[in-house]
Amino acid sequence: MKIGLFFGSFNPIHLGHLIIANYMATQTDLDRVWLVVSPQNPLKPKKTLARDRDRLHLVRLGIADNTRLRASDVEFQLPQPSYTIDTLTFLKEKYPEHQFVLIMGGDNLASLHLWKNYEQLLAGYDIYVYKRPGADLGALADHPRVRLYEVPPLDISATYIRDCIKAGKSVRYLVPDAVLEYLESGTLYR
Ligand code: ATP
Repeated sequence: MKIGLFFGSFNPIHLGHLIIANYMATQTDLDRVWLVVSPQNPLKPKKTLARDRDRLHLVRLGIADNTRLRASDVEFQLPQPSYTIDTLTFLKEKYPEHQFVLIMGGDNLASLHLWKNYEQLLAGYDIYVYKRPGADLGALADHPRVRLYEVPPLDISATYIRDCIKAGKSVRYLVPDAVLEYLESGTLYR
């Protein structure tokens, strides 16, 4: 199968993430999209980052019964910090039957030249880029490995959602109902 990898901290997952994942899984040649949850970086402050397992659980709740999407905890077992090229190499070895593609926003494409072994990344993998309003795509937009997609933009971030929760405001309609229920019943991000 052809699988798109969408990396993120998903702290927490929101509809912006799911709109992109579902678009890529249904309106491109990808068979599946895996939402790869990035682990806590041991060197970074953990204050606002929920535990790995909680974020993974929320991604699973968000995906619900969408069989084209899958939550992946592959990076939890890899050495940290996990660089995308290393995760891709690991996945390629573990799943030789699949072809992996990277999914990223135009803002990330613009700074891709700063990533570890980005040339190796571009040599070995296609990159499906969704344009972001106002964000420049940078010099790699014309690279033969890069494909551009117009995904309807939704201007929300996990930071905004955490801020709302902390302030006691509702995040209904910004996250899937199952995620909302979990967030409202616990103490995450309060
Ligand atoms: P935070 O506000 O905590 O930085 P985030 O909402 O940007 O989080 P991430 O988990 O870091 O979420 O997102 C994963 C990827 O999805 C990132 O590359 C990010 O730029 C992108 N992304 C997040 N929210 C949106 C959105 N509303 N529209 C398009 N891309 C998004």
